[in-house]
Amino acid sequence: MLIALLNHFARLWHCLLPASCLWCSLPVQRYDRQLCDACQQALPVLPYALCHYNLMWLPQVSRGLKKPRFDQLLSLAYYQQPYRHWLQRWKFAADAPAGDLLQQQFGHLLRQYQQQGHALPQAIVYAPMHPRRQRQRGFNQAQLLARVAASTLNIPLLDVFSRPQALPPQVGLNRKQRQRNLRQAFALQANATLPATVALVDDVITTGATANELCRLLRRAGVSHISLWTLAVTLDV
Ligand SMILES: [Zn+2]
Repeated sequence: MLIALLNHFARLWHCLLPASCLWCSLPVQRYDRQLCDACQQALPVLPYALCHYNLMWLPQVSRGLKKPRFDQLLSLAYYQQPYRHWLQRWKFAADAPAGDLLQQQFGHLLRQYQQQGHALPQAIVYAPMHPRRQRQRGFNQAQLLARVAASTLNIPLLDVFSRPQALPPQVGLNRKQRQRNLRQAFALQANATLPATVALVDDVITTGATANELCRLLRRAGVSHISLWTLAVTLDV
C-alpha cells in the first residue's frame, strides 16, 4: 500500500518536474529512469553472447589480466565513457543518482545472466575497503554492489574478509614486492566458512591483482569456482 502510494507520488512528481538525463541533461521520459530513452539505447553493450558471459574469453580483456585466479569475469562495461564518468561521480563526489544508476544497471545485467540459464554461485562476497577510506567516503561501493547481486539473485551475501591493512606506498616497487604487500593487506575472518562456488564483487578491475589476492584466500578456504563480477574492466589496447 505504502509502496503503491510512493510510486503514484513519484509519477505525479515526474509529470510536474521531469528529472534530467544523467548523460545529456535532457528531460527523462520515464519516472523510474535516470537516462533518457536515446541515451539508454545508445549505451555500449558488451558481447556477452559471443563469450558466453565470460569476458576472459575476449582477447582485448584477457591480455590485460595478470595470471587470473578466477574462473569467470562478468562486467557491466569496459572502463570507458559514459561508465567511467558515472563511476568517478559515485566514488569521488558521492553522487547518489550516478550510484543508483550503476547499481540498477548491474542488477539488470545479473537478471539477464540468470534468465539466460547460467549457473549461479552459492554465495556472494565482496572486496573489502580500508576502514579509513570507507569512513572518508561513507560507503564501500563493492559492498553496495554485492548487496544488489544478493537481492537480485536471492543468494546469501557473506562478509568474510577482515578489514584490510593499509598498503605501504607501491611506487618504485617491482611486481614481486607489490604482490608481497598485497598479501599482507588482506585476510579472511578466522571463522569464515565458504561454499564451493562464490561470486566475488568489486567495482573496477584493472590488472586483477587485488581480485587475485582475494581469490587466493578464497581458494585456500576451499572455494573451487570463483566468478568475478564488476562494473567496469580496463581494456588492454
Ligand atoms: Zn540522455
